[in-house]
Amino acid sequence: MSSTATTSPPRVVVIGLGGTIAMTSSNGGGVMPALSAQQLVDAVPGLVATGIQIEVVDFRRRPGASLTFGDITELANATTNVLVQGAAGVVVTQGTDTIEETAYLLDLLHRRPEPLVVTGAMRNPTLAGADGPANLLAAIQTAASPAAREQGCLVVLADEIHAARWVTKTHSTSGAAFRSPDTGPLGYVLEGATRMLTRVPYRLTVPAPRPAEHATVGLHTVTLDDNPALLDVIGAHVDGLVIAGFGVGHVPEPLVNTLTALAGRIPVVLASRTSAGPTLTHTYGFPGSEQDLLNRGLIPAGWLHPYKARILLHALLAAKAKPQDIATAVATAGGLSEPTAWPWPTPTNADNQPEASPDA
Ligand code: ASP
Repeated sequence: MSSTATTSPPRVVVIGLGGTIAMTSSNGGGVMPALSAQQLVDAVPGLVATGIQIEVVDFRRRPGASLTFGDITELANATTNVLVQGAAGVVVTQGTDTIEETAYLLDLLHRRPEPLVVTGAMRNPTLAGADGPANLLAAIQTAASPAAREQGCLVVLADEIHAARWVTKTHSTSGAAFRSPDTGPLGYVLEGATRMLTRVPYRLTVPAPRPAEHATVGLHTVTLDDNPALLDVIGAHVDGLVIAGFGVGHVPEPLVNTLTALAGRIPVVLASRTSAGPTLTHTYGFPGSEQDLLNRGLIPAGWLHPYKARILLHALLAAKAKPQDIATAVATAGGLSEPTAWPWPTPTNADNQPEASPDA
């Protein structure tokens, strides 16, 4: 049972990673990550009145573009530790540039029931209408809310609560940049309360990465009249590859032989470069069609966006998952198989159990 069953005020830990939300300029030049997590918290109007106890951790001070798999894996462990010690939830502040990727990796590694909420800002603190304080307040209120438990990692910006596995950054500057094109938000923060309109149907978590495992996973977006030369070069340097194909999972015919050879050597996941909707499995039959490529050993990403497919494939390779488990896991995360096919225990039946071994 979680400690949130007590009557003491909820305690939320805010972990700062940098990003626009923490950026200022000391000399009138370009903004850079500079503010501490405590400074971000101190700038939130109305936070004290919520009664939520806040603790802060300065974890990294970087732009979102320079965060790494290692940073996020370490962050996932730090998050588990503070939750085991009784925090009601955790908020991560970071650059919005990579939130759709880091939040999904956190979702795959977060086995606890407490909310883990990622937020950031589109307008830095030096600008009129900076959105950082409002986003941080909404994220803290979500992290403290029992309604947001058992949802894995959530992304909260502009008072919308999104599931990490579905959310994408759809605009480079708009304050309403974050959308979940296939599902819409799970809920909203309204008048300080977390209102969930729907919930994630199931959670999928991966075994912890093996400490010395360094996988390289590439992402190649196919384009009009693409030729195999670039793919040949990329293929020689990666342990796994995501292909962002046209439409429901199509590539130009000249790429087919290269992809067939690659899929015989490494996992190659077929996603869609469109911003919403799934890859199909058995509708088209021409060379380079989704059906042709799956017959040649590519793994369908289904509803999984190419960026998320790359994160999942990296997490699976870092955990040294077996090839068959990789194929099953990607298809399941992409909604093409029942969640019961997931090769490892899921949080509902694995809370507080030891980490499953990928070889189990
Ligand atoms: N534009 C980005 C942000 O919103 C910069 C970054 O990701 O660090 O935070």
